Amino acid sequence: MTIALTTDNVTLTYPDGAGRLTALDRVNLHVTGGTIAAVTGPSGSGKSSLLAVVSTLIRPDSGRVLLETDSGTVDLAGLGRREAAAVRRSRIGIVFQQANLVSALTAVEQLEVMSHLGRRPRLPTANRRETRSKARELLDAVGLTDHHAKYPAQLSGGERQRVNIARALMNDPALLVIDEPTSALDTERGAAIIDLILSVVRDRGSATLLVTHDSAHLHRMDTVYRMVDGALELQPRVVV
Ligand code: ADP
Ligand code: MG
Repeated sequence: MTIALTTDNVTLTYPDGAGRLTALDRVNLHVTGGTIAAVTGPSGSGKSSLLAVVSTLIRPDSGRVLLETDSGTVDLAGLGRREAAAVRRSRIGIVFQQANLVSALTAVEQLEVMSHLGRRPRLPTANRRETRSKARELLDAVGLTDHHAKYPAQLSGGERQRVNIARALMNDPALLVIDEPTSALDTERGAAIIDLILSVVRDRGSATLLVTHDSAHLHRMDTVYRMVDGALELQPRVVV
């Protein structure tokens, strides 16, 4: 299976008083399936904006965001709102910094909801059963076997982040986009989350873009980019 994400001179500006603020300045990056490209850089440098653009939540001013899969190559920057929403649902897994779980749903329900989004009429019973067993498998895969029926308030920060990651995998995403997954966790739990992400990415083959402040984990990533004032640079590999 061929999967790759390539951005080609992506520029994004925001309105800023009378002028425009350049959040992304001709950004080029490349990441292939089963690997992780980390994006690091100071606060306000444009990292989250980059993730929003590649996950189709914001359309850039110019440039292309090419997602290549076995079914062809799509320019995510050229999609209309409805097409973008459809691609997000079927191809992209998004893990935000905060888990954003629904407090009234159990862990397994948080995942099941992903398969029901945007479906009218409702899924037939057989598919609902399939969805449930997939949700259970994913929770097991992220180490939450004993927590399927728990509500967010009954889970620790690290466990909530695991639910968050499992939920992003429900649609077998070609592209996985992860923003600061360890920022709310202590060092040990942060390292465990990075272990988990590395293993799911290797297993499932998603092209993964991971934003992190945490330089402790950078040496484990396949590629490291650094963002400064909206400009992205490939960091040379440090050989130890
Ligand atoms: P990072 O994730 O690296 O902290 P962001 O992508 O959040 O950086 O922000 C990059 C720059 O764009 C910052 O100067 C920020 O204030 C600005 N910015 C982010 N989102 C918006 C927005 N929706 N409207 C206007 N400016 C924004
Ligand atoms: Mg950010």
